[in-house]
Amino acid sequence: MLVVNTEKCMSCEACVAVCGTGAAQMVDGKAYIDVNLCVECYACKSVCPSEAIEEKEG
Ligand code: SF4
Ligand code: SF4
Repeated sequence: MLVVNTEKCMSCEACVAVCGTGAAQMVDGKAYIDVNLCVECYACKSVCPSEAIEEKEG
């Protein structure tokens, strides 16, 4: 699964713009990925300028 490292997130919202399922959202000013909506297409990870979106086991 993909998770947002909120310490790296610069709140640019690029991931939200590119996400086709609505999984990438802004919550409290930082990106958040809803695992129930995410289809792991990695588009957000590719577009993130600060490498804030990281892979995590589980
Ligand atoms: S693209 Fe990266 S830096 Fe921009 S809001 Fe998403 S996680 Fe944060
Ligand atoms: S991996 Fe794809 S579906 Fe999941 S949050 Fe990123 S852009 Fe959206």
